Amino acid sequence: MSDCVFCKIRDGEIPARKVHEDDACIAFEDIRPAAPVHLLVVPRKHIPTTLDVAPEDEQVVGHLHVVAAKLARERGVAEAGFRTVMNCNAGAGQSVFHLHLHLLAGRGLRWPPG
Ligand code: 5GP
Ligand code: ZN
Repeated sequence: MSDCVFCKIRDGEIPARKVHEDDACIAFEDIRPAAPVHLLVVPRKHIPTTLDVAPEDEQVVGHLHVVAAKLARERGVAEAGFRTVMNCNAGAGQSVFHLHLHLLAGRGLRWPPG
């Protein structure tokens, strides 16, 4: 999508600190980190929200979690614990309407979240 910030990062039109790239997804540092480790794992395909995930997207959505786990291990936060979260729609805090999995770690994470 032409006016989507994450499509632009995918296409190299906006710079980002990328930490992973493969055929199905990219991952990069969040520009406004909410924790010492805050990465975004983003499918290459423009899917606006969880509500738009189609049956043919099941594999890529699972893949986002495989990549998040790999990145958590690489960052050394796997054992201590981390949070993966997808916000859906504005009431849950979604501000970029291109599906993304947050990986948060490196500090205590309270539950339930705010
Ligand atoms: P959401 O609020 O949609 O769940 O998460 C969107 C995330 O994208 C936010 O944490 C925000 O800081 C991050 N973000 C927004 N614009 C950019 C950008 O241009 N570059 C990067 N690296 N992160 C961004
Ligand atoms: Zn997009």
